[in-house]
Amino acid sequence: MTPAELSKRISQIAIRDRDAGHVPSVAHVLEDSKHIRRLGGSEIVAVLNPVRSLAVSYRSSCPICPADFPADRPFVKWRTRFIRANDHPVFDGHLLDIRQRHSPHQLDTEGICDFVSLASIATDYVTIRNEGECAGASVLTHDHNQLLPWAALESIFPTAHLPVESAHTAPTSRKSIRTLEDWPARGFAIQGHQDEVVDAIRKIAAATSSRNLGLNLAATRSRNSRTMVFAFPRTTKWPSGYPAPISHLARACSRVLLGKPIGHFSYGFGTAQMFGLMIATERKSFERLTSQRVHRGLRQASVGRATWQDIVAGVTMH
Ligand SMILES: [Zn+2]
Repeated sequence: MTPAELSKRISQIAIRDRDAGHVPSVAHVLEDSKHIRRLGGSEIVAVLNPVRSLAVSYRSSCPICPADFPADRPFVKWRTRFIRANDHPVFDGHLLDIRQRHSPHQLDTEGICDFVSLASIATDYVTIRNEGECAGASVLTHDHNQLLPWAALESIFPTAHLPVESAHTAPTSRKSIRTLEDWPARGFAIQGHQDEVVDAIRKIAAATSSRNLGLNLAATRSRNSRTMVFAFPRTTKWPSGYPAPISHLARACSRVLLGKPIGHFSYGFGTAQMFGLMIATERKSFERLTSQRVHRGLRQASVGRATWQDIVAGVTMH
């Protein structure tokens, strides 16, 4: 299959599923201006999308296993991957890219190569990965990435660039890796030949996994039409200041006892939030989002200064 054929075939998947009623349409979200807010003084945009709240209510042990995928729904097999529509789309056209064989959601070399290859072909999409529960992954049993369609994103980001792309970057001793300088979340901007990008992600993933941290990856076509990858190491101590398991328990308790989650955010930060797209599932939390709160949230969701410097030194070492 040529890249053009793959691109064409995957663009049909979500349309067919939506037309057959397998996946809800969320097009109305983007058509209603009350569902989109630009946060003052920043490039960051908030979107209200109630459909996404269902994405955490999975019941089966491996809800995305290709082996259990309904036979009457469209999919595309590519290399070792299985591409299908996301059942709880953020936008119409939102896809899942899943490893065909059952294996845990842990970034390995094969996964990194597949992520970079797919991103370089699926240029009509932003390819994203939430690595680890603290980085917003809701399914940890099976390796997967997500594809957000530019066709929908362009109605939110009219310049066809992600908010993080406006951040200034600084060079490191490694040509393909730059650091984000004036973005509220700490992270890397990676660009280069495919093997350089794979190598950079490998180093960053090794640095985060050896410290038991999470990682968010977003790959997009850049201004010079080459693939640009943003990588955000994630603290496990967010948002409560306690490690993830305690934090989750506290949130679950507050839901039961108070009927609402603690804190300003009733949702976790995944890759979309880290690159500047806040997706709220409840109107209340959507309306409470301010530029200041989001900036603070992004800082808290990032690794601390000392850890960051340590990661940068390790990643850029020759
Ligand atoms: Zn599985």
